[in-house]
Amino acid sequence: MKSEDLRIEQLEREIEDKKREINRLQAENIHLQETVRGLDSEAHKFKDLVYSSKFLFAIFMGENHVIDIANESIKEVWGKGDDVIGKPLLEVLPELKGQGIKELLDNVYHTGESYHADEVPIELVIKGKPELRYFDFTYQPQKNTKGEIIGVADIATDVTKQALLNKKIKKSEREFRKLVNFMPHKISLANAEGDTIFYNQNWLDYVGKDLEDFIGEPWTNILHPDEKEEVEQVVAECLTEGKNLDKEIQLRDRNGDYKWHICRATAVKNDEGEITSWISSSTEIQNLKIEEKRNEDFLKLISHELKTPVTSIKGYVQLLLSLLPSDNKEVDKKLIMKPYLNRIETQVERLIRLISEMLDMSRIEQNELDLKKEQFNLNQHAEEIIEDLTYSNKDIQLELENNFNCNVVADKDRIGQVLINFVTNAVKYSPTGNLVHIKIHKHNSEMAAVTVKDFGIGIEEKEQTQIFKRFYRISGEKADTYAGFGIGLFLSKEIIERHNGKIFVKSEVGKGSEFTFTIPLNHT
Ligand code: ADP
Repeated sequence: MKSEDLRIEQLEREIEDKKREINRLQAENIHLQETVRGLDSEAHKFKDLVYSSKFLFAIFMGENHVIDIANESIKEVWGKGDDVIGKPLLEVLPELKGQGIKELLDNVYHTGESYHADEVPIELVIKGKPELRYFDFTYQPQKNTKGEIIGVADIATDVTKQALLNKKIKKSEREFRKLVNFMPHKISLANAEGDTIFYNQNWLDYVGKDLEDFIGEPWTNILHPDEKEEVEQVVAECLTEGKNLDKEIQLRDRNGDYKWHICRATAVKNDEGEITSWISSSTEIQNLKIEEKRNEDFLKLISHELKTPVTSIKGYVQLLLSLLPSDNKEVDKKLIMKPYLNRIETQVERLIRLISEMLDMSRIEQNELDLKKEQFNLNQHAEEIIEDLTYSNKDIQLELENNFNCNVVADKDRIGQVLINFVTNAVKYSPTGNLVHIKIHKHNSEMAAVTVKDFGIGIEEKEQTQIFKRFYRISGEKADTYAGFGIGLFLSKEIIERHNGKIFVKSEVGKGSEFTFTIPLNHT
């Protein structure tokens, strides 16, 4: 009996053990079920991600590349509907035959090496119509748990829009190059720092070098030694200030000869207004320069020939005037010839001024304009000039304001010539104004300044640098209203620059102009 009880006790213990084991297994089972559910939902999420992704995704199984998985995006690109699963790729898309796709898939399937390519053109038949599309894609081998290749995954992006845009850009770049090479001008492109990155064919033909060689050397190598320093300075100024370049420059050709060019450069800016590059054009004007020189020589010659007879006409007119009784209105009325003689005198004076301007101009061209410097009081000199000018310009008030008393060492006549030019222009271009204001003031510790302000027709901003060029006159309907030759300001600028001074102009159309020249002070 005792042993039976023991047996029962043991069995009961065994039953308890089994129950515990069953509970443990049940708990484990619940945990496993939860894990499987978790995995299922992960797989679901992953599937959702793949199916709804913008990426084109498909898996092809076996040697025939049977479509096993194809997400919505790839089915949309194929344009073949939903019933593609389970069919070989080439059966669904027969148009792929002959486009190299099958060969690529075969290769990945057999070698196990993945393949990637960008912007590949593929012709697809979408809704019955052939369409060329561009794709970036990767073919990735798919393996089973034993490591055997069972299929190929295709992950692709439709880059048709971008590829077409790239093609357009390449096409317009090709056209631009063609255009730029076809032009008779020398065109170049430089980066923001001014280093040239492109020269057109005309440039290369001119210097007799190929692109690589010419880009490799500083372009300033072909400048004329006499101009090199000045041009480099002007170019550096344009680069730092973002200003346009517009300058006549001599450039050396393949034979070592220097030829005149008109060189222009302009900055290209991005949306933020920052300079990204510079476009330059250089046009040969050598023949024009030769022609110009011929004209100059001719002008010089006739100016010389005219000067003597015209001066003697003036002398005789003045002699005749001096023989007539002096100013008396009553007597004057009876002297019919006096107003005519006065007119002849004014016209002859204009002619003499023109002749001397012409001669001065040719002196400047030939670097023969010598300055006879002396020390003088600028205020006193200006007063004398304004007094003379007041005498011959009775209809307008010339007002002189002396803000600063100063001595200068300069060519007195030439400085006077500049002031006369400024004042006569101020009077001439103020058809309705009745005041010209002249001011002598201190520009800074080194320079005195003379400003001539009028209330006349004014000058447009774009013309304000042009008017200092030789023979430049502002064109327009009123151009012929004002007599002139466009030499005065050119001469004035040359004279002032030769004194190390500067000329400034401020002007507003319809309101008037303000011309200023500066001149170094004499501190001794
Ligand atoms: P011009 O003999 O024609 O006056 P300038 O060289 O002195 O020659 O001047 C060049 C051009 O600049 C003039 O033709 C005129 O168009 C313009 N100009 C000069 N001064 C003035 C001014 N004070 N007001 C308006 N325009 C002016």
